Amino acid sequence: MPSFSLDLREPVALFVDGHATPAVAGRHFVNLHPATGLPVNEVALGEDDDVDRAVRAAKRAFKGPWGSWPLARRLLALEAVARGIEANAEAFIAAEVSDTGRPRHMAASFDVPRAVDNFRTFTRLAAHLPAESFLTDTPEGGAVSYSLRVPLGVIGLICPWNLPLALLTWKLAPALAAGNTVVVKPSEESPSSATLLGRIIQEAGIPDGVYNVVHGFGDTGASLVRHPEVAAISFTGESGTGQSIMAAAAPGLKKLSFELGGKNPALIFADADLEQAIATTARSVFLHAGQICLCNERIYVERPVFERVVEGIRAAARALKPGDPFRAETTLSPLISASHRDKVFSYFNRTRREGATVVTGGGIAELDEPWRGGFFVEPTVWTGVPAESRARTDEIFGPVCLIEPFDAEEQALAAANDSQYGLSATVWTSNAARANRLARQLDVGTVWINTWLIRDLRMPFGGTKRSGLGREGGVHSFEFFTELRSIISRF
Ligand code: NAD
Repeated sequence: MPSFSLDLREPVALFVDGHATPAVAGRHFVNLHPATGLPVNEVALGEDDDVDRAVRAAKRAFKGPWGSWPLARRLLALEAVARGIEANAEAFIAAEVSDTGRPRHMAASFDVPRAVDNFRTFTRLAAHLPAESFLTDTPEGGAVSYSLRVPLGVIGLICPWNLPLALLTWKLAPALAAGNTVVVKPSEESPSSATLLGRIIQEAGIPDGVYNVVHGFGDTGASLVRHPEVAAISFTGESGTGQSIMAAAAPGLKKLSFELGGKNPALIFADADLEQAIATTARSVFLHAGQICLCNERIYVERPVFERVVEGIRAAARALKPGDPFRAETTLSPLISASHRDKVFSYFNRTRREGATVVTGGGIAELDEPWRGGFFVEPTVWTGVPAESRARTDEIFGPVCLIEPFDAEEQALAAANDSQYGLSATVWTSNAARANRLARQLDVGTVWINTWLIRDLRMPFGGTKRSGLGREGGVHSFEFFTELRSIISRF
């Protein structure tokens, strides 16, 4: 696999039927660097005609070469994609840093290796998928009944901006390993990796039309959802967008998988290893400026250690360094856009006005040129957030948390479950019985005990309530990306 050079000033094209291509109408939008606020390049704006072109190419590939490849050949090609991402790590790192402003070391240590793992894990799992078979008694003598996993056809993958390559490949690898073809709608904020991946996929020998990318805004995503030849949508993004997608998919009764927002709690008991609990909880609030769906925004602390935890998280917040993503010391990402910064900043102001105590932060981060124009805000910690405040209920998706004391386990559990969301929760305690009791009672998709963010790609992943619909990960991804057919054959 050759390594490609990536000129970030070049326009970002669509990728349709095996080729980087401009949009049919020739329109563009501008891609900004979140760490400077300056334009980086233009992105081809896909509209209905582009979506249609991409879906038809995907359908042809599904009915044609890709659909007829034996499993082993398909999986070998996907293994070559993993090697291609490794060989082009620097280009992907550059794309991720430019689109999201995240520190380079994060892209190098997480995003690119995770993309490779996604391809390797789902390729291996696809080779060992079980299906059932039964001997069925009949009056005439019998039959054998067995099930066959078949791909769905053309899948729409609609992705967010926070972890562009990692979350795209998390869906893409199992979708392709299962034999589907795809049309991807990356976030308008983070288009580059998806188009670059098209070159790797071509180089890996995967047939034209298996992987297609159409850039654009919500309208482009909606056009993909409505397209009659799209069999299913796997979506990661905001809960409200999930509602719109569900409504748009209803007439076609399309299969849906949703990974949505969160307002995740961490529960810290006095018997926890406090040094670890404080350091990891601070990381869980501020990593990527809180722009990871699994970040914690609500911290509940047993009263005897409340002051110590507040002080520890405050100190961690103040130690974070925004700025140049290519400096090793930089530890704070910018927010993704000016409008997202405005949203987060509006919570800073409103929550202060409501009477919360601002332990640290609450402002726009002051930086020198060229980072002054970046979308950085100060890491922020509140205590005493009033009961009716929206800072308790809404996903803010910024480097911010509220911290609150509790006196009893049941009180902490009730506070943690008092949310419209149910993505994840974290419990810090040295009492194993308590940890496992809470893990059963917390109404969320994932519970971490004395750790945070360890993810085994073979495990089910998803949320309850407004945090999601269905599960992806491991065999569960294949349950979504395939259909089971029952076959009954008489002796
Ligand atoms: P978003 O919902 O604004 O956008 C996600 C994608 O949907 C983008 O590609 C966007 O263009 C597209 N879109 C917007 N409107 C659409 C419509 N009507 N029809 C079809 N597509 C449409 O989300 P975002 O701001 O990009 O991402 C942040 C959100 O994602 C947060 O809520 C975060 O919690 C969530 N998230 C969840 C997970 C998870 O695994 N649960 C992971 C990452 C992010």
